[in-house]
Amino acid sequence: MHELSIAQEMMRLVFENAGEAKVVRIGIDIGDLTGFEPDALTFCLEALLDKTPAAGATLDVARIPGSGFCNTCARVVALARRYDACPECGGLDVDLRGGRELRLRELEVE
Ligand SMILES: [Zn+2]
Repeated sequence: MHELSIAQEMMRLVFENAGEAKVVRIGIDIGDLTGFEPDALTFCLEALLDKTPAAGATLDVARIPGSGFCNTCARVVALARRYDACPECGGLDVDLRGGRELRLRELEVE
């Protein structure tokens, strides 16, 4: 289960950054093209959080939709999968822009 190891890594980052402070809010971005299931990741994070001093902190997991820049159309287009063709022109000259994020976006402590 990959989500669990990602969740453990996120928790490690949270406590590395928070130190002794009380964590009240954790914001995480997860791209649609990472292959990770946001619900499963949230579940793992909640389970891990429960056993820490940050239990009860608000967990905010945001999905980042896949997008790319089509060099033919010269515009940003939506991508459902990493190597999809441009939905506008059908071309494959598309540079991935968004959707690969997997990061700790926000950490609120008090
Ligand atoms: Zn295009």
